[in-house]
Amino acid sequence: MDPKHQLLLRKLPGVDYVLGLWEKEPPVQEAPRLVVVQSIRKTLGQLRSKILGADEDLDETLLSDGQLLHLTEQAVNKAMGFNLRYVINATGVVVHTNLGRSLLPESVARHVAEIAGRYSNLEFDLEKGVRGSRYSCIEDVLCEISGAEAAMVVNNNAGAVFLSLETLAKGKEVIVSRGELVEIGGSFRIPDVMARSGAKLVEVGATNRTHLPDYEGAIRDETALLLKVHTSNYSMVGFTAEVSLKDLVALGAKYHLPVMKDLGSGNFVDFSKYGLIKEPTVQETVAAGADVVTFSGDKMLGGPQAGIIVGKKDSLGRITRNPINRALRIDKMTLAALEATLHLYRDESRAVSAIPTLLMLTMPAEAISKRARRLRNRLRKLANSRLEAIIINSSSRVGGGALPLQELPTKCVGVKIEGLSANSVERIMRGAAPPIIGRIENDLFVMDVRTVQDEEIAIITSTVKRILAEE
Ligand SMILES: *Cc1c(COP(=O)(O)O)cnc(C)c1O
Repeated sequence: MDPKHQLLLRKLPGVDYVLGLWEKEPPVQEAPRLVVVQSIRKTLGQLRSKILGADEDLDETLLSDGQLLHLTEQAVNKAMGFNLRYVINATGVVVHTNLGRSLLPESVARHVAEIAGRYSNLEFDLEKGVRGSRYSCIEDVLCEISGAEAAMVVNNNAGAVFLSLETLAKGKEVIVSRGELVEIGGSFRIPDVMARSGAKLVEVGATNRTHLPDYEGAIRDETALLLKVHTSNYSMVGFTAEVSLKDLVALGAKYHLPVMKDLGSGNFVDFSKYGLIKEPTVQETVAAGADVVTFSGDKMLGGPQAGIIVGKKDSLGRITRNPINRALRIDKMTLAALEATLHLYRDESRAVSAIPTLLMLTMPAEAISKRARRLRNRLRKLANSRLEAIIINSSSRVGGGALPLQELPTKCVGVKIEGLSANSVERIMRGAAPPIIGRIENDLFVMDVRTVQDEEIAIITSTVKRILAEE
């Protein structure tokens, strides 16, 4: 090791020394001592590694009092902030699982805040003055808008599928088409969930084609359930065939077997009315006669994370009484968010204009162009010769494993800053407060305005302005 670096290593002060510097004039007043001490340890550890691994020449300014305080202050500020933070989604992926999937409407978020900060009648029947059911507040509205006889909610759709299989088919057989044994991502695979539920998977048909006699031929005394799974994130084209839910329900009736459909992303709105690819709605699935229908609360529904189960009284009764239910139960904040979101669905036009996920999915081309022009013009107004801002035609995605083939024509604003690579711009934007998440395309930092909210345009503009001033 370089003798100069060996000397530096010896000069590295102890925690007490830096703490003494800090306490003379604390740069962050409200930081608890515990946080400061931990931040100093971290900072000194990083300095030690830096010196040990240094291949460049380091000198003593690295360990000056000012530098030690500055590094500690940065570490303290980082530790004082929340790890889970608001970010600006400029990716154009509407239901972005990595960025929190769906945003709640303003009115829904307000209701959640009230319920979270107050006592509530979560499990208390206000009319009778006795203990009530946690789920009663959403059963009625779910039945009302889906047309189902009964409803139930758990933590997420993976939980809903697991609980339904465990209840209806543990130790028995479940018949599924080979083409529907999907992996959703985040390691949710139908065969694996099935195995964990104790149900035995019986695959029928070929990958691309499954027919009614395939299901019928597999029915035995051990059969407990016929299952159909929405293929969500992938699509088969060409020589394909699947059995309709209606035909499967008729087969189930013939053999007295319940039929379950995992819809994945469930939607109450028929998006084909708004120019998107037709997806069966929850109402249509219920009307086709499925005994159990499961779907997510935070995919195309646009509500909180939840797994919703609707269907026939008999099957739902069994699912509700399953003790595992308790391990999957949702909390009051989710319930508040879900009830308030579902209320909006009583009037479709209100749902489409108030629920951000639906608004972004059905956004007219002209509104997107207008937003893109606003962002580009605001950036150009910075009148900085190093900055180039242009509008690019592109395609947004639905996300959340829904409608993989759906093209959503959109406008992006591409940014180039002289002296900075697109990678650097991306990194700086991602490190901003709030972070701005976009993508790199043809050496530009690209922001899809479909998922940028109007009030965020000013934030993006001031972030770019700061970059131009600092970098
Ligand atoms: C997304 C999805 C799930 C899992 O839903 P989560 O709410 O993410 O748990 C299950 N099945 C299908 C078909 C899906 O698309």
